Amino acid sequence: MSAERGRLVVLAGPTAAGKGTIAAYVRTHFPDVFFSVSMTTRPPRRGEVDGVQYHFVDNREFDRLVEAGQFLEHAVVHGLARYGTPRGPVERALAEGRDALLEIDLQGARQVRATMPDAFFVFLEPPSWDELVRRLVGRGTEDQAERERRLETARRELAAKPEFDAVIVNDEVGRASEELVSLMRSGRTDR
Ligand code: 5GP
Repeated sequence: MSAERGRLVVLAGPTAAGKGTIAAYVRTHFPDVFFSVSMTTRPPRRGEVDGVQYHFVDNREFDRLVEAGQFLEHAVVHGLARYGTPRGPVERALAEGRDALLEIDLQGARQVRATMPDAFFVFLEPPSWDELVRRLVGRGTEDQAERERRLETARRELAAKPEFDAVIVNDEVGRASEELVSLMRSGRTDR
């Protein structure tokens, strides 16, 4: 086991900024980075596999985990479903000296900021507002009301940018992911 603790990096940003894509890229290309798999109460989308994108649980199980203190953070996202980061796997990875990446929403990032102030917080920004809207609409997995809700959340989330240690513009997934990993590895000098 490495003597040095790993570094916890939190990736947040507005809806459809591409956090999921960046996280997936890091997962594939940098397997030494521990990637936290969240719990959620939302149903799986087509192609999603339990334990890979998320652990899919019902409300009762989610409540049980909250009561047992098993989440590092948890939040209701878009007013629709609950999401949470399981505490144990992240703490084990950090203790083993692995860097750990959380891809979570702003509410979750703020909770982690309060409980783990040594973490490094990265804000993923879409190249422009128009591009953000295009991505939200283009994805086509949500109905009109849901898209409106997500745009409203995105507006609020964009305003949170100054709270973060670093900002990455998601203009191209490979480039943005490489920037994220190099930030993860660069130490804490830029805080
Ligand atoms: P989706 O349902 O589209 O996969 O994700 C919806 C949102 O939930 C995304 O903004 C994602 O970052 C956020 N999210 C995913 N996992 C977690 C988590 O464990 N905690 C929090 N707070 N947000 C999460």
